[in-house]
Amino acid sequence: MINRWIAFTACMLAGGALGWLTAAKGGLAWSLGVGLGLGALMWLMIDSLYLGRLLRWLRAEQGREAPAMVSSQLPRLPGVWEEVVDRTRRLLMNRDQQLQESQARLDEFLAAMQASPSGVVLLDAQGRIEWCNQMATQHFGFDVQRDVMQHIANLVREPAFKAYLASGNYSHDVVIPGSLSTPARPVKLSVHVHSYGKGRKLLLSRDITAVELAEAMRRDFVANVSHEIRTPLTVLSGFIETLQTLPLEEPERARYLALMAQQSQRMQTLVNDLLTLSRLEGSPFPGANDWITTSALLAQCEQEARALSAVIAPRGHRLEFDAGPACEIAGVQTELYSAMSNLVTNAVRYTPETGLVSVSWKLLEDGRGQFEVRDTGPGIEPQHLPRLTERFYRIDRSRSRETGGTGLGLAIVKHVAQRHGAELHIDSQPGHGSRFLLIFPAARIRPAHAA
Ligand code: ADP
Repeated sequence: MINRWIAFTACMLAGGALGWLTAAKGGLAWSLGVGLGLGALMWLMIDSLYLGRLLRWLRAEQGREAPAMVSSQLPRLPGVWEEVVDRTRRLLMNRDQQLQESQARLDEFLAAMQASPSGVVLLDAQGRIEWCNQMATQHFGFDVQRDVMQHIANLVREPAFKAYLASGNYSHDVVIPGSLSTPARPVKLSVHVHSYGKGRKLLLSRDITAVELAEAMRRDFVANVSHEIRTPLTVLSGFIETLQTLPLEEPERARYLALMAQQSQRMQTLVNDLLTLSRLEGSPFPGANDWITTSALLAQCEQEARALSAVIAPRGHRLEFDAGPACEIAGVQTELYSAMSNLVTNAVRYTPETGLVSVSWKLLEDGRGQFEVRDTGPGIEPQHLPRLTERFYRIDRSRSRETGGTGLGLAIVKHVAQRHGAELHIDSQPGHGSRFLLIFPAARIRPAHAA
């Protein structure tokens, strides 16, 4: 500031000296006055020049759109103006730095919202889309370029959503079909709006198709289990009541007790199959260290098939077993036996007496191992084939129940196959019998002598 005073005083002195030197006799005071005035004017002009340069630079800085570092073309100004320029430059540099930091933070924040597995839509106070992430574009079928600043109710036309948005009560979510939903592949979205700021809204969407499906499956499963258990329980309690209230003859009493034993056996089989399924779902995948001999598995299956055939078919079945080359399968013995015996006992149960059931094991050319069960039973209509491995899916309910079926056998086979990397193939034609194949990967098969 002192420099400014010095410059002003110098101008005034120069003006005063000029006035004094040019003063005519008797007009000294007037010349001095004019000189001092000229000095002040000169100072003002020089000062205005510097101020003009400073203003031009400031305007240029202000006109820059993108926040970048302050322009290096600073005006070279003396004295106090230099300090004004320097301080302004520092202020501008600070502003640029803050802007850059805010921009970087905003970019990171938006990147985090992009990475979110939920759809995120920011709505202004009028309900127009200000920003949305990639997931939201998939959920609602938005086009980021085209739909920004469009009212969301014009783009998501689902009546349930419109009513939800208009209600202003966002304490719960609303479930609507996604933009890719089709009758064959329904997609369900859970949409929840949260208010923030001055009337703004944050809309979150989540794909809950899998959750809904799992929930529906759980409901079906509980309903099926309850239904399966209720029938034998009703029969049992009926017999118990009869035994309690009526004085029965010994033969009749024995017959009732036999029927009761049959029903309790049915419940026991069901509980065992349910436990097997839950063990298959809950236990770690089988390692490749335990090797099970195929001939032993087939021998066990044969024994069981002959026993079952003797019980359910008075005239028996023709049962053929071919153990093939001596091999070993890497896996869990109980699981492998459960899968194979389910296929074999199904063939026996669904094939009328005197029919043929042939079971074989062989190595395929590419080293894979094939377990095959063929029967000359009724065969299966093509429309049932894709659903056979669903839990409790049965074609012939009464035959299944009569022969001790639970509707869980092929579900168990499918699980065991998946856990051992095997494929389950079913070929069948009504009237021409059925063929069930379990094909094990070469990595899980080795010749028995390699042990
Ligand atoms: P279940 O305990 O009722 O036999 P599964 O899951 O083992 O249940 O089989 C599902 C359904 O597939 C059976 O109810 C039956 O209708 C049909 N099925 C299975 N194996 C055969 C077969 N070898 N021949 C004809 N139908 C079969």
